[in-house]
Amino acid sequence: MTADNMDRKRGIYIHMPFCVQKCRYCAFLSFDAEGSPRKEYTDALEKEIRLRAELEKKNGTDKRIDTIYIGGGTPSVMDIASMSEMVKTLKNSFDVEPDAEFTLEANPATLGRKDGVMLAKLQAYKFMGVNRLSMGVQSMDNDRLHYLGRIHTAENVARDMDIIRRKGFGNVNLDLMFSVPGESGDDALSDLEKILAFAPEHISCYSLQIEEGTPFGEMAESGELTEVPDEEDRETYHRICRRLSEAGYEHYEISNFARKGEDPGAPSPYRSRHNSLYWNMDEYIGLGLGASGFVNGVRYKNTSDLEEYLSALDAGRLPLEEEHKNTAFDNISEAVFTGLRRREGVRYEDAVRAYIDTDDAGKKNLTSYADFRDCFWEIFAEAKEEAFGYAGKGLLTIDNDGLKLTEQGIDISNSIMSLFV
Ligand code: SF4
Repeated sequence: MTADNMDRKRGIYIHMPFCVQKCRYCAFLSFDAEGSPRKEYTDALEKEIRLRAELEKKNGTDKRIDTIYIGGGTPSVMDIASMSEMVKTLKNSFDVEPDAEFTLEANPATLGRKDGVMLAKLQAYKFMGVNRLSMGVQSMDNDRLHYLGRIHTAENVARDMDIIRRKGFGNVNLDLMFSVPGESGDDALSDLEKILAFAPEHISCYSLQIEEGTPFGEMAESGELTEVPDEEDRETYHRICRRLSEAGYEHYEISNFARKGEDPGAPSPYRSRHNSLYWNMDEYIGLGLGASGFVNGVRYKNTSDLEEYLSALDAGRLPLEEEHKNTAFDNISEAVFTGLRRREGVRYEDAVRAYIDTDDAGKKNLTSYADFRDCFWEIFAEAKEEAFGYAGKGLLTIDNDGLKLTEQGIDISNSIMSLFV
């Protein structure tokens, strides 16, 4: 293990690819829960957990786990007994920090129809160690929810939030989707006000992406659906950012906002620790169908074929589809690409360390800010002129410490980030 890997935090992501029904815009890896081999799946996951943990121990690269994130799909459709078994295996196999952040995605209307059932389910999650819930609310308008193919209503969200709070969950994320065809900026802001009324600790805001191969993708092709124009989408985004800032939320990543803590000058205690691993080039073990991981300098991806996944684990093999050992350039490029998503941006020193600490990059004796800055622009010599051009237009801030997107720069973040690939 390099010194660099030793310093990196590590999380675990587990994918649960089952949903009550497919949303019309969904391009995620998920299947109808009804009739799917859910029990076989969690049994296979347990095998994968043990195999991964054994591999890390054998290589001497096992580390304490700082975050766990169970996402999907809709993890809250999974049977509680199988989930508990799976989490028990996870905790017996890995060394999980006592104060680890443990997030579970729980879609509205999937936690139980009766209050008693829901309270029992939430109690079981607490017992497993879940201390953060992430709810795919998307909208508080029932017509829009129906149009999106979501199974819940605004009333379901209100009831779920009431019971979640009663059960004592004090760290909840709510997702908001905007730029749904037919939705105006005012509609999106009205959704946001309703979401703010729940005082969630964290809000993720995304504009709807129309993906090929989805019902919405087909409707866009046939002209049945018209996407919200870019200009309107960007205007709504900036209105959302302004409103969330007024409401006391820290805009810490392009799409993510965390309620400020007692010290408004300090980073919010509600930033997603797990998602921050991705933007900080920390490590994460991905488990489950189609899951990706980044461990010990290697990026890997599991197969997305359910049958292949189950049979690989049945045969005692990891269900890998691909593995790639990052080069020194991959590391710095990814550090800049993902780091620019953070409002704090990228420090030259962090990015350059991702490069020089990689085994095959050789060592350089860099100590001062200027050393790191010069080394950074030496590596990205071809991008330098264009990057400074963006800075001249007020889209990127470049100083002696590093670089970050301005709020206007976020609108063309992909173009700016791609300079460093
Ligand atoms: S709930 Fe999420 S993963 Fe499931 S179908 Fe809808 S968008 Fe896809």
